[in-house]
Amino acid sequence: METPTKIIFSASKLKTLQACSFLYYSKYIIGLPDKPNLGALIGTLIHLIFEVLSHPRHRKHYDEIIKKYKYSKSIKRFIKKAAKRLNIPLKENQDLINKMILTGLQYDFFLENYKNVETEKRIEIEGRNWKLNGFIDKLGVRNDDNNTCLIRDFKSSKKIDVNEIQALCYSLGMKKLKNMTSIVEFLFLQFPNNLSHKLQFTDEQLNGFELFLEDIAEKLQDFDEKKACSDFAANDIKKRWLCGKREPTKNGTIFMCQYREPFDYFALIDENGKVLKTDFEKKNLKCNVNQFIVKHRFSGCPAWNNQNNIIL
Ligand code: SF4
Repeated sequence: METPTKIIFSASKLKTLQACSFLYYSKYIIGLPDKPNLGALIGTLIHLIFEVLSHPRHRKHYDEIIKKYKYSKSIKRFIKKAAKRLNIPLKENQDLINKMILTGLQYDFFLENYKNVETEKRIEIEGRNWKLNGFIDKLGVRNDDNNTCLIRDFKSSKKIDVNEIQALCYSLGMKKLKNMTSIVEFLFLQFPNNLSHKLQFTDEQLNGFELFLEDIAEKLQDFDEKKACSDFAANDIKKRWLCGKREPTKNGTIFMCQYREPFDYFALIDENGKVLKTDFEKKNLKCNVNQFIVKHRFSGCPAWNNQNNIIL
């Protein structure tokens, strides 16, 4: 019997798939370029700062923030540089960033009751037809119990949305890699008064999740456009908000799924036509020998751009 290709999962891939089959297809199968929104970029910046401040060598910078409520010169420089690279308008967002940093740092940042603390811990596990990759923001083993660990994940979202799939992924990871029970703690940095949300799963639940991954991986073999159109968020009243609206909201901003409307983009392909990378801008793609850059047109999400499709 032929061994099926292992489907590569991550918590965000699984969450996207749950949200909308066409969104998953666009992002992860055809690999359309991704334009993260400002909120996601700020989240990346916060994670970078926490990663730097976690390093024992940088403890003095942490102390300065906690005791004097100010950044050292080098941390200021780091934030400025990272914000520039991520294209974040720092002036307009500095207050929010400062508040989230302080909230995260003030809440047992170094996991005092835990040992073997690690930051940005990479996990990689696999099953019969799937592989799962991910990074844990902070991980520590309980001082009084070698079989239990704390997994901490920082969230910078505007609402409290406890990501059960992500917690299951990490917990299964620690079960399979170290045979440990996990407590997954999400810290919602924009909600200092409702900061910590913890999840813990039984072995039965983790076994069930493993079976779920097998089942999903089976379904994702040969995931083509037809399958991608099987579960549009647009056709589900509870998920349609993900598609957003063409019209601006009351405060003048537009929130719309990045794949709702048609657009042009560039693809770096090899000599066999395999897409290696995509980007909205040609200048961001670097061509090596036997590679080419071609212009492609994406005709927009069929749920909104195909007259035969009826939004229910
Ligand atoms: S516009 Fe809606 S249905 Fe289409 S990909 Fe985006 S979320 Fe899915």
